[in-house]
Amino acid sequence: MNQKIRKKLRAISYNFIKLATNFSYFIPAKNKKIPILVYHRVCPLKYKKEVPYANVLPEQFDFQMNYLKNNFKIITVSEYLKKIQNNLILGNEACITFDDGYKDNYIYAFPILRKYFLRATFFLTTKYIGENTPFPWIIIDKGGKEDIYANRERWLPLSWNEVKEMMKYGMEFGTHTHTHRDSLSNMDKKEIEWEIKECTRIFKEKTGVYPELFSYPHGTFKDYNKTHIKLLKLYNYKGALTTNAGRNSVEQNPYELKRIIIYEEDSLWEFKKKVNGAYDIAGVLQKIWLKIAGAK
Ligand SMILES: [Zn+2]
Repeated sequence: MNQKIRKKLRAISYNFIKLATNFSYFIPAKNKKIPILVYHRVCPLKYKKEVPYANVLPEQFDFQMNYLKNNFKIITVSEYLKKIQNNLILGNEACITFDDGYKDNYIYAFPILRKYFLRATFFLTTKYIGENTPFPWIIIDKGGKEDIYANRERWLPLSWNEVKEMMKYGMEFGTHTHTHRDSLSNMDKKEIEWEIKECTRIFKEKTGVYPELFSYPHGTFKDYNKTHIKLLKLYNYKGALTTNAGRNSVEQNPYELKRIIIYEEDSLWEFKKKVNGAYDIAGVLQKIWLKIAGAK
């Protein structure tokens, strides 16, 4: 498909999805569907509009956690999987997750989670944890350059000591490949196995426990397949998380858990819509959209 048409289609379908979510909020939700939210960074970056850092401001995050605390029972992903196994899901549960392993998760998100007595699940790109440089995929443009000069720490990955401290307070950790070099679907079998094996080995070496949860880099329908799931099972993973939009029914495959991405642009209304099921429809549209438009 020609690039121009593809771009147009993407814009049209994006706006259509966004519009559709407003209607779906009014459709009574089916019982026992669990939202799993995914964050990346939580940081007071001032150049929010120029810079796509997948960031949420700390005050926004605080507001969102307050809303979740008052309206849901927050459990970790492993608790969620256990509840499903034992048929104990009530339908008011929700999970909070973070991808990649940014140090700002420790600096800004962790104190807010503790303030509300909430626990979350964090997925680590093991190669960079404890490194003294930002993740290599971070594009540090004008706004970033100024901020990194003033607040270098914010831009780094978590350290293993921070991971262990967060664990002490009930935070849960999983892996997100070793290098996050690419979508698993773009790698050959050997590379994929190495990525999974290596992040599992390092996680165990640094924390003393085997990881049981995995999140797929990029995480859409196109970024994982049955072979990857088989490999994860071989390495004793109990579940894996995608970025396929929508909440999870109890029948959802534990290796294809859906998640809802939270963005800085989300108003509290958008956030409420998201956790209450407005993006369940979007998940279906997202699949169609990815098939037609091609890219993420
Ligand atoms: Zn990631």
